[in-house]
Amino acid sequence: MFDTATLGLSMLRIATGIERQSMGFFKKIERIEEKSPEEQSIELVDLRRAKESARITKAVSELASKELERLERMDPGIPEYTIGVSYLEFLLSLPWQNLTDDSLDMARAEKILELQHYGLKHVKERILEYLAVKTLCNFSDFNILVADDEEIARTNLEYVLRKEGYQVSTAVNGQDALDKLKQKDFELILTDLKMEKMDGIQLLESAKQIAPNTEIVMITGYATVSSAVDALKKGAAHYLPKPIDLEELRSTVRQIREKKRYLQLTRSPILCFSGPPGTGKTSIGKSIAEALGRKFIRISLAGLRDEAELRGHRRTYVGSMPGRIMTEIRRIGVRNPVFMLDEIDKIGQDFRGDPASVLLEVLDPEQNGRFLDHYLDVPFDLSSVMFIATANVVERLPAPLLDRLEVVPFPGYTEKEKRAIARQFLVPRQLREHGLKNRSVEFLDGAISKIIVDYTLEAGLRNFEREIATVCRKLARLCLQSENDRSPIVVDEKLIENLLGPRRFTHEIAEAGHRVGVTTGLVWTEFGGEIIFIEATRMKGNQQLILTGSLGEIIRESAQTALSYIRSHAQDFSLDPDFFDGSDIHVHIPSGAVPKDGPSAGVTIALALISLLTRKPARRDVALSGEFTLSGRLLPVSGIREKVLAAQRAGVKAIIFPEANKIDIEDLDTDVREGVELIVAGDIFSIAHRVLIQDTVT
Ligand code: ADP
Repeated sequence: MFDTATLGLSMLRIATGIERQSMGFFKKIERIEEKSPEEQSIELVDLRRAKESARITKAVSELASKELERLERMDPGIPEYTIGVSYLEFLLSLPWQNLTDDSLDMARAEKILELQHYGLKHVKERILEYLAVKTLCNFSDFNILVADDEEIARTNLEYVLRKEGYQVSTAVNGQDALDKLKQKDFELILTDLKMEKMDGIQLLESAKQIAPNTEIVMITGYATVSSAVDALKKGAAHYLPKPIDLEELRSTVRQIREKKRYLQLTRSPILCFSGPPGTGKTSIGKSIAEALGRKFIRISLAGLRDEAELRGHRRTYVGSMPGRIMTEIRRIGVRNPVFMLDEIDKIGQDFRGDPASVLLEVLDPEQNGRFLDHYLDVPFDLSSVMFIATANVVERLPAPLLDRLEVVPFPGYTEKEKRAIARQFLVPRQLREHGLKNRSVEFLDGAISKIIVDYTLEAGLRNFEREIATVCRKLARLCLQSENDRSPIVVDEKLIENLLGPRRFTHEIAEAGHRVGVTTGLVWTEFGGEIIFIEATRMKGNQQLILTGSLGEIIRESAQTALSYIRSHAQDFSLDPDFFDGSDIHVHIPSGAVPKDGPSAGVTIALALISLLTRKPARRDVALSGEFTLSGRLLPVSGIREKVLAAQRAGVKAIIFPEANKIDIEDLDTDVREGVELIVAGDIFSIAHRVLIQDTVT
């Protein structure tokens, strides 16, 4: 039997044991047992050694020393000891000072993007512009003004800083510094606190008025620490005590320089790649990292509900852990990776805090230089991280977060593009990954098209690549079964059908007959464009409009609007004005389990009702998309390219869009328009004859 206290303790040990295993930094401890004083002292000696050799900042070093002293005084049998050791391991293993050097060779970056991705012209251009700004910022000079009335101190500082590659000017006192600041821009002023004529504090106050963006670092003697604090309050970036520790000087200046450069850069918002799954968002993120020579991290935010998952738990919790951001930074070992926050539109919000607000802080260059993970309890500088977000539907993002992002749309691919990507990238990659590189395997164009058309129905390439992988897997098995036969393998349509089985998607549109009360619509979802059918029927009843198919409020209102319009214009459609008397109308949108909403189905519902009431069949191969008003007008909709691609995939012959979408249609590439007639219309009268077949069915 356990008593509660024992059980609580053993649970804690299990939790912290797992945590320590996952950290795996120093020697791994599989089982946490009672430690003898000798074991404790070995562990603490190890930690102390690790502290001495770790590249950490002064503040972290002081914190680590304090924690070590606390542990030395502690009984190793109590839970706090284990928590403290885990904490120290984590603290010391973070890359406080580790950075990779950026490779800012534009030609190389362009080549990498081009070699690894087909098409995506606008995306690549935007990324190259981003890198160009970064390159320019990197090569611009960093001007420092050193103000000190002691000549030796002045020249020493000048010498050290010039050696680091900075442009350095000097001033003999505060007044001289101020005069120089009026003539030239300086990124940083390093000033002594005690000077004749004008001291450091006075210089700080005046300089902040002339050049508010210039950072000021105060150099103070030990006796003047309180003045240093005063200087920080008045806006100094930092203070350095005398005698100056050269390593601290270098790292302070480097940090200020980096911060300023990052701020310059990130005044342009964080990039957010938005588009259906499988359109290359993640893989282009990896290419950016490669082009910059940085490491790459990706975390998915889908389903994230708890703020603590990002920001960590306070160490007072049993089994508390750092957040995912710091855990990943520690894993990758540098503090300037390309960090992809995937599916940022899928984060949740609940009583345990709001993860979106943590993201706001992480993405804000003014704040992320001092990101505070609750577990770590000391700020970590994330300002050198290049964050990239991805989303399927940016409209779902909270407005303040969207405001920080620059959305780069990733469109769905046409069949032609998919074929080209398969030839150039997907097929060679899958052959390689399935050990077929040295076998002569040739995929015919017809086979590739068959996989696209008969086995996938998507805007991106995920399932397509998966099907190619399935084919390669089966080919690998065939190769092994007939090992002596090394003749070339030609993959044609027939072989695809043999390997993948009967086709998975039929072309419902092209193959279905025209029906009364059934129209074809186009909607835009997070997976890209999709085809929907709207069915309407009438039966005896008492003027009820029944709406089914998991419909949201907006789509329900669209249906009511459409019905009211038709009732008020019955004669224009040669209908009896009292047609609704003694009857009910039911509108249903199949795939009943999938929730649907949005205004763009309005015109499709209206035509389904007109078809039903006039008994004229509606053409299946003409699709519609448009918001419908009570006066019979069509209002513009979004996602035109995705909708046209969905129509192409389904075999639709013509699409009717609102007139106001004309400009979006003109923007479409020719291969997107291929095979579908695009019609624009301002009101329902001008399109009824395009959709309805004139022979009435009784
Ligand atoms: P997403 O992150 O948008 O869901 P991925 O980056 O995972 O999509 O892409 C799915 C697959 O398709 C990956 O194997 C990727 O390399 C490939 N891919 C997508 N777009 C392209 C492209 N334009 N050129 C080459 N390969 C691509």
